[in-house]
Amino acid sequence: MAERACRCCGVGVAVPDPHHLVRRRHQGTDEPANIIPLCRTCHTLFHNGVRWVAVAIRAALLPHELAYITVLKGREWVDRIYPVAA
Ligand SMILES: [Zn+2]
Ligand SMILES: [Zn+2]
Repeated sequence: MAERACRCCGVGVAVPDPHHLVRRRHQGTDEPANIIPLCRTCHTLFHNGVRWVAVAIRAALLPHELAYITVLKGREWVDRIYPVAA
């Protein structure tokens, strides 16, 4: 089975964690634009509120992913949850 790269740190993972950019309880869906692959370490760090992980995810978002979460939640939400590197 091909490995997939963690979107945050780039490490190859056989079975990455699916991370919902917008969580389901915040109206996120299961469509592909809302789900990115993360390694377990980065996934845990993100949900523990580690800022550099959120910044790295923002930098690695593909245009259609950024568009999806911006349409759904608005620019302020996106910039708060996934900050642009200073
Ligand atoms: Zn990672
Ligand atoms: Zn997650």
